[in-house]
Amino acid sequence: MKRLKIKKTKVHYNETLTPEQYRITQEGGTEMPFTGKYCNLFELGTYHCICCGTPLFSSYAKYDSGSGWPDFHEAITEGVIKYVDDFRSGQKQIEVKCNHCNAHLGHIFEDGTPPDYKRY
Ligand SMILES: [Zn+2]
Repeated sequence: MKRLKIKKTKVHYNETLTPEQYRITQEGGTEMPFTGKYCNLFELGTYHCICCGTPLFSSYAKYDSGSGWPDFHEAITEGVIKYVDDFRSGQKQIEVKCNHCNAHLGHIFEDGTPPDYKRY
């Protein structure tokens, strides 16, 4: 019965997300650098979780680090994001996930700008 429920959730996501969105958010994948539609978008606004709609980042915290992915200085509020140790690449990274629906958002790096050098 439990198994059936999980399957249903997967089907639901398959209907609402593109295959790439599904791969990234549900299976921890990564889009190719410089391909994301938000990479070079700097209009004012709020970035929401693509799976559950929770506001995650403000455009005020967005900046261009040249990494090829959208970068943010900080989350929009405390608690909307959770941090998980990720060893899949062979070395420890901090995975960033939506605290509401567990969708994979990316990783956090320590090569950002002052004051705290965090790059999301
Ligand atoms: Zn979410």
